[in-house]
Amino acid sequence: MKKIIAGNWKMNGSGQALRDMYQALDGIKTDNTVIICPPFTLVNVQAFDGVQRPENLSMGAQDVSTHENGAFTGEISAEMIADSGVKYVIVGHSERRQYHGETNEIVAAKAARAIFAGLTPIICVGETLEDFESGKTNEVIEKQVRESTPTDAKDIIVAYEPVWAIGTGKIPSLSDIESVHNHVAKVLETMNLGGTAILYGGSVKGSNASEIMNTSNVGGVLVGGASLKPDDFLPIISAA
Ligand code: PEP
Repeated sequence: MKKIIAGNWKMNGSGQALRDMYQALDGIKTDNTVIICPPFTLVNVQAFDGVQRPENLSMGAQDVSTHENGAFTGEISAEMIADSGVKYVIVGHSERRQYHGETNEIVAAKAARAIFAGLTPIICVGETLEDFESGKTNEVIEKQVRESTPTDAKDIIVAYEPVWAIGTGKIPSLSDIESVHNHVAKVLETMNLGGTAILYGGSVKGSNASEIMNTSNVGGVLVGGASLKPDDFLPIISAA
C-alpha cells in the first residue's frame, strides 16, 4: 500500500531550507506520496537559487480561510491555494485549535472550502493527555472526526495526532495507535469514507517511522520537527 509522508514546517523554514530539501529529494525514487507544507510564503516556490522542485514532491498549505473571498485581511482562500499549484491543505491542526480557537465546526467549514476548490484537506484530530489518561481517546477522536468532516466529503486525509505526542518525543504504544486507527477507519466507513488514508502524527522520526507505518490502518505519517531538515526527513521517507 502506498503511504503518505507529509511534513508540517509550521512557522519555520526559509527559501534556503526549501532549496536544501528540493536538492536532497531530487532523484529519490519513491512510490509513496511525499508532501511538504511550508509557510504560505514558500508554498509556490518552483525553484530557489537554481534548484527546481523535484517531481516526487507535492506541496501543501497549513491552513485556509473559511471565507470564499473578500474583505478578510490576512486570510488566504482555498481558491488562492489551488491557484498557486498546491494540492493539499492541513486543517484543524491542534495548534490552530488551541491558539486560534478553531472548533470542529470551523475545521469542517475549512475542509469544505478546500474540497470545493479541488484541494485535499488533511483533517487533524487528537486527544489531550487528560482525555488519554481517562480512557476517552476513541470517544473524543470519533466526535472530532464526525464533526470536523464536511457532509458529502470525498478525497480527504485524516491525521490522528495525540496532542500530548506533538513535539514532546512521547508516542502512544503501537497497540494504542492501532486501536485508534482501527476505530477511525470504522467511523469513516459509516460516513461513506471507507479507504480514507489515516496518518499518524506526533514525534515521528527515522527510528520509529517504520514500525508506526507498519501498524494496521496507518496510511502514513504527518511529521513536524523531523520534516525540517533532509537528514531527519529522508530516513522517514525511506522507512515507508
Ligand atoms: C505536528 O505538529 O503535526 C507534529 C506531528 O509535530 P512533531 O512531529 O514535531 O511532533
